[in-house]
Amino acid sequence: MGSKSGSGRLHAGAAGRKFVLHDPVVCYNSGPEQRNALSPDMFDAITELPDSDRTLIESITIPARDARAFNVTAGSICRIEVIEGSQVADLNMWNAQNPREHFYASKTRQIHASHLSVRDSLWSCMPYLRPMATIVKDSISYGIDEDNAGVHDVIGSRCDPYTHFVMTRQSTNHCCHSNLTRSVLPWRLTEHDVHDVFNVFMCTGFTRSTGQYFAKPSPAVKGDHLEFFAHLDLLVAVSACPQGDVSYACGSSEEPYCYPLGVQIFIIPERLLDRYNTPMPSAYSGAHGLSTNK
Ligand SMILES: [Zn+2]
Repeated sequence: MGSKSGSGRLHAGAAGRKFVLHDPVVCYNSGPEQRNALSPDMFDAITELPDSDRTLIESITIPARDARAFNVTAGSICRIEVIEGSQVADLNMWNAQNPREHFYASKTRQIHASHLSVRDSLWSCMPYLRPMATIVKDSISYGIDEDNAGVHDVIGSRCDPYTHFVMTRQSTNHCCHSNLTRSVLPWRLTEHDVHDVFNVFMCTGFTRSTGQYFAKPSPAVKGDHLEFFAHLDLLVAVSACPQGDVSYACGSSEEPYCYPLGVQIFIIPERLLDRYNTPMPSAYSGAHGLSTNK
């Protein structure tokens, strides 16, 4: 087997050096049985469940430009919904019994993709590395557009006062990092527990010419929603981003329109969970090569 250099194309580097242009190799390309946390049968059973067969147990409104945190028990469904105008959500999640285990955006991006949709899971950090939640509904299902942009990204972070200060030399408390920090204080978590987010409803990508992170106005409209199945007992925090639908660059003097978001939590019939097993933390036991037994 020779090199997979494709058609002999060359890439000119920024300094003029020529490189052989190889074809991309998807790094984490194992089969769906490794990456899909819900069996096809269970996924179908959940997604085909009539609304009348699930029970609403909590309804929360996330105020515009603010955040709320809430618990979602294992085996239930959480729905995040655009209830007025187009609005993005910055989401964090933790294992409710052990907040050291939290959502891991970068590994989720590697395992699935830059933008998430149905069947993709939100994975937890090392050393646990297991699915915390799996997306079961996405009313937008945007795909990837001609600018390589998608919706519901795990490539950005959250707007925060520190980067804002770097860019503008001005202080602000109206940002998702600060919103999320305030929202989790009642659970005795702090700013240090807030982590890189799942950007629900946000339309983003990287520019082809410069590789810079960009956003487009969110295509989400009233009634659009994303639902996930909770694999663990979760603490979830959602910030209704003060950038609204993110029509303007961060630090812009333009005042974005901002709207509240709705959250609903549903329990599903016990029979759907009869043969379901909670994902276990990673079974890796190599002790990083330090164990004398290995
Ligand atoms: Zn934000």
